[in-house]
Amino acid sequence: MRRSALVTGASRGIGRGIARALAEKGWPVCVNYLEHRDAAESLAEELRKAGRNAIIYQADVSDRKAVEAMVRAASEALGPVELLVNNAGIAQQTLFQDTDDAAWSRMLAVNLTGPRNTVMAALPHMLTEKRGCIVNVSSIWGLRGSSCETAYAASKAGLIGLTRSLALELAPSGIRVNAVAPGCIATDMVRALGTETRAMLEDETPMGRLGTPEEIAKAVCFLASDSASFITGQTLTIDGGFIV
Ligand code: NAP
Repeated sequence: MRRSALVTGASRGIGRGIARALAEKGWPVCVNYLEHRDAAESLAEELRKAGRNAIIYQADVSDRKAVEAMVRAASEALGPVELLVNNAGIAQQTLFQDTDDAAWSRMLAVNLTGPRNTVMAALPHMLTEKRGCIVNVSSIWGLRGSSCETAYAASKAGLIGLTRSLALELAPSGIRVNAVAPGCIATDMVRALGTETRAMLEDETPMGRLGTPEEIAKAVCFLASDSASFITGQTLTIDGGFIV
């Protein structure tokens, strides 16, 4: 059966780990990126060398037309997109009253409208085939809330609402929609917070360390697999005990 997986924001961090793990499971993968073409290309090359099928595609997930073109390109090159992983995301730490209109809008455009755009583009095929799977990468902050990250937390809480609502709407069509809520994971996003904050986050995590992209990828692979065939509308927290 010809089919493919699209992973947004797969040039670095968690998305890179997810794309690699899905390819290892046999999925042809479209590696979406925004700015880091070299990183995306190095991953695609690594996957091709391992005998997997992979392409890279530059698109800003907030741009609906660009996303439609990406889904078309992935479908033509690899097979129809039947697994969609909405991973691309941005974060910013500011006081609520210092978050200006542009920062607020950009956060929602990438973290919430982005997944809406990709689902819109991939859905017609999934509905026709009555088959498909969507996994959204939310965050523990979307479940719990986060001081000085209100826009980020709101976007990630919105993504959980999108997950649950789409799961209900699409279940009769054979399409499952789930989310993962990572805790603190060792990627550039956390590195950008500085070594002091990183150490504090390690300390606050009951397991005493940051998670790895591979640990998130394993959960995504599970939710995308037949082992999860009766699971929809769920948000799986992967956080070393952070919000227990
Ligand atoms: P990261 O290291 O900063 O990587 C972000 C990825 O998203 C990059 O591949 C980047 O592409 C891509 N990206 C950013 N904006 C994009 C856009 N508008 N369109 C397409 N791609 C875009 O982040 P990460 O830590 O791996 O996070 C991945 C996801 O997990 C995010 O949704 C994040 O909110 C979530 N998450 C992360 C943590 C954590 O602790 N790290 C915790 C909870 C949830 P380029 O590099 O090509 O620009």
